[in-house]
Amino acid sequence: DVKVLQVDNLQVSFRTYGGEVEAVRGVSFDLHQGETLAIVGESGCGKSVTSNAIMGLIPEPAGVIKNGSVLFKGKELTGMSKPQLRKIQGVDISMIFQDPMTALNPTLTIGEQLTEGLRTHKKVSKQEAKQKAIEMLELVGIPNPKERLKQFPHQFSGGMRQRIVIAIALICEPELLIADEPTTALDVTIQAQILELFEEIQQKTNISIILITHDLGVVAKIADRIAVMYAGKVVEIGDKRAIFYTPEHPYTKGLLNSVPRLDLVEEELQPIEGTPPDLFSPPKGCPFTARCPYAMEVCDHVYPFTTTISESHAVDCWLQDERAKVLQELS
Ligand code: SF4
Ligand code: MG
Repeated sequence: DVKVLQVDNLQVSFRTYGGEVEAVRGVSFDLHQGETLAIVGESGCGKSVTSNAIMGLIPEPAGVIKNGSVLFKGKELTGMSKPQLRKIQGVDISMIFQDPMTALNPTLTIGEQLTEGLRTHKKVSKQEAKQKAIEMLELVGIPNPKERLKQFPHQFSGGMRQRIVIAIALICEPELLIADEPTTALDVTIQAQILELFEEIQQKTNISIILITHDLGVVAKIADRIAVMYAGKVVEIGDKRAIFYTPEHPYTKGLLNSVPRLDLVEEELQPIEGTPPDLFSPPKGCPFTARCPYAMEVCDHVYPFTTTISESHAVDCWLQDERAKVLQELS
């Protein structure tokens, strides 16, 4: 059981004119080889910032990794120099974003874009690179790959373009793929095809995937484990079955009550009355207090400890912690 990634107490802040925003406030999780971890939550919960931090894409100097550690196969990524990071980005760790059009260069052929990374990082010959590009297009299900290498992005449909983006992300055979809302811009049928493609690729390559999404339908389809983020914290993490069938955090329960509908994929999650707290001055206690139907006094004052429910399921909520009663009486 190989751990590809170990994120420990990651903290990321952004300096703005309004003050400092604590976007990620102590996030920890592991990722195993061949596993898909979905990070879910409303927009602004810190899920994209977390993945950008792993990728070394926090825009400096406004953004700062304040604390914590990101180990990729035992190597510390935080604090790595730009040139060191560039050797890892796109080679060992690849990232796919929401909009396939902006990810592709309209002035270069698909073949040029596919082979660029290989030629730079793997020092293969032109002919080998072309052969590999053809194989990748086959892997992602693009017919007539040899002919299509000469074409430009606009000559492909949206779904095909996202397949090409995936092929580019995978051509250097990374061990970790980070996909931030990879199907959000696509229509439902294409979305389903792309998710199947992820599963196929994972079976063939044993790649580890972090999937950032607000769409629980997508999560239900391809995640092995789920981390639920709220106000810069992972409030619950567990196997897909545990999270879907026996969620413990009131926020997770609220999310699941808004039954995912595949025809509403473009809507942001807004299942629970109220809004998340302002991260300029994050609350001392549980950030969900204001929206939580079960909030107790202790919740307001002290952030809950992590309670381990089972080997693969943990939650940050006072309802699961027997010490809440004692603290309740003290406060
Ligand atoms: Fe609700 Fe308290 Fe649990 Fe937070 S810690 S989710 S406020 S019960
Ligand atoms: Mg996002």
